[in-house]
Amino acid sequence: MEAPELPVLDAYAHRDALHLIAWCDECRRWHFHDLMPKSGPVAAFCHSPQSAYRPAGYVLRLMGPAPRWINQDLQRQSRGTQKGPYDLVQRRSW
Ligand SMILES: [Zn+2]
Repeated sequence: MEAPELPVLDAYAHRDALHLIAWCDECRRWHFHDLMPKSGPVAAFCHSPQSAYRPAGYVLRLMGPAPRWINQDLQRQSRGTQKGPYDLVQRRSW
């Protein structure tokens, strides 16, 4: 166990095979990280200077390939209309 005080974000492999994506509760948007970063904390990619993740970063926990609804949400984000996984718990059925 290392840095147990850091938040852990579920991360998914993007279908471009180059990035991991993780939902940020602080920014309410998806953050992109390089695929397979070093284990341990990564720097928060938050845009908000008030983000609680910014000082120390967070830990990415790889969950597997991004399911289709995440890809769809990413497309909405790129168009500025993403909703985010507000109902992530209910939809976590893959
Ligand atoms: Zn963020």
